[in-house]
Amino acid sequence: MGAVRQVRSGLHWKVSGLVRLIDLHTHTNESDGSCSPRQLIEAAECAGVDALGITDHDTFAGYDQAFEAARSAGVTLVCGIELSTRLYGHSAHLLGYFPLGDGLKDFREWIGDMQASRRERNVRLAARLRELGFDIRVEEAEALGRGMTGRPHFARIMVEKGYVANFRQAFDEYLDESAKAYVYRREPSFAEGVAKIRAAGGVASLAHPTRVKGDVPALLPELCAAGLNAIEAYHSDHSARETELYLGLARRHGLKVTGGSDFHGDMKPEVRLGSGCAGNLNIPREVLEQLRQA
Ligand code: AMP
Ligand code: FE
Ligand code: FE
Ligand code: ZN
Repeated sequence: MGAVRQVRSGLHWKVSGLVRLIDLHTHTNESDGSCSPRQLIEAAECAGVDALGITDHDTFAGYDQAFEAARSAGVTLVCGIELSTRLYGHSAHLLGYFPLGDGLKDFREWIGDMQASRRERNVRLAARLRELGFDIRVEEAEALGRGMTGRPHFARIMVEKGYVANFRQAFDEYLDESAKAYVYRREPSFAEGVAKIRAAGGVASLAHPTRVKGDVPALLPELCAAGLNAIEAYHSDHSARETELYLGLARRHGLKVTGGSDFHGDMKPEVRLGSGCAGNLNIPREVLEQLRQA
């Protein structure tokens, strides 16, 4: 890697010189990131990221819109998604990668069904909040959350309207699974998510394993039996020791390795595209090659 010179220019750090990074875990404003798909491609160019995976939560909308911009910029775009699934009663995130980016008709339909059930849950959630005396309509939440509208957007509205003192109170008293405005939403099980990704020809990778509730080394045999075939060893949350731990588990279980910053733009400003938190991320390029050999 050659000399890197960073020049502060507006919001971006312009990079000149030879820097070639990869980043396979990023979000646009089609889920909970702050950059539009085009802005994300620009940010990738500025950061020296020449292979970018867009992994919005439960949607390909950001990937689809970034496609042309990536092509003109010469950025290799990897089609990805981050699914919210249930694993032993807790939420677990599962990354899906589709290096070819096509042949996903059935998978896209399945995601479409989940989006419909999310929308339908949001309508019931708004009704429940009105029942409790709050003036909140589903359209207000959707204006904030677009295709990924969820409880955090309702929480923000409750704070803005002064119904609660803060986000924490909105969840603790109303929106948490144990709280009084909670309404059920169907979420796929982890095994179902893995099966759908694999059936569509994708690579299924356990996202940011440090955030999984439960003992990952102990759970892995079962997750692998369900078809999991990769693990996100490189992530902005991981210490060097944790990365080593997950690389070791990948070797032991014959899993591919994936990695990414989990960039969300201004939503998580400490996380930088391609390089993570204070440069703690350095994803080897062979990760991308392995993914393409899937
Ligand atoms: P949804 O997908 O609409 O059901 O919302 C799930 C999101 O809400 C999660 O990804 C978290 O960001 C947030 N969330 C869920 N439970 C809590 C909680 N108890 N406190 C704070 N945020 C939460
Ligand atoms: Fe996110
Ligand atoms: Fe995640
Ligand atoms: Zn993510």
